Amino acid sequence: MLLSDVTWMEVEEYLKRDDRLMLPVGSCEQHGRHLTFITDTLIPWELARRLSAATGVAAAPPVAFGMSLHHMRFPGTLSLKPATLTAVLTDVVECAYRHGFRRVLVLNGHGGNTGPLAAMGADVTNRLAGLKLKTGAWWELPPVAELTQARFGGREAHASAAESSVVLALRPKVVRLERAQFSPAVSPMRFADADEWRRRYPHGCVGLDPTLARAEVGEELLAAAQAVFQRELDGEW
Ligand SMILES: [Zn+2]
Repeated sequence: MLLSDVTWMEVEEYLKRDDRLMLPVGSCEQHGRHLTFITDTLIPWELARRLSAATGVAAAPPVAFGMSLHHMRFPGTLSLKPATLTAVLTDVVECAYRHGFRRVLVLNGHGGNTGPLAAMGADVTNRLAGLKLKTGAWWELPPVAELTQARFGGREAHASAAESSVVLALRPKVVRLERAQFSPAVSPMRFADADEWRRRYPHGCVGLDPTLARAEVGEELLAAAQAVFQRELDGEW
């Protein structure tokens, strides 16, 4: 039940029996020397497709631009400002609500979207009666983080081993692993603007060594994320 593949007639029928909607949210931002700009959109979109095939729950096309201002020193990154992304997400969820969707699960593919998602969520859930909203970032889901720890010995940050593994599983031909270089994550309290971010992470890749990435692990991570999201779709709202 992908909005990309149906007409209003199927949605009208669907809304007579269900009120759930998945909304993937990604970004168009640099992903190191080895992954492409669509990475953060590709992964939640693929999860939404798999979840929709497994459950019949409707899935919107992805919001393909996110909040990536800290990546703007890397050419090709196209970002929304935090307030713009909050407004876009609010408008999309409000339209879904007007049609009768009452349970919305956001599948987030990018850490920079977290703040705008929280701002949108606080607004719409307090304003639109009966709306239930859930959001989850795939790499932060506990089973996914535990698997990342077990396979790579740490946490995913940006374009590193876990994310690279998932892209290897989905689009092996676009991954240029032989070019990959990375920096370990640092977490000073000072907020990093785009200049500071590029100084800290000159290759655009942060966290775990991306050359450890493997497609089989990518499939394991996707399966773990899908299982959590499926429980959230079918469980209590
Ligand atoms: Zn990413």
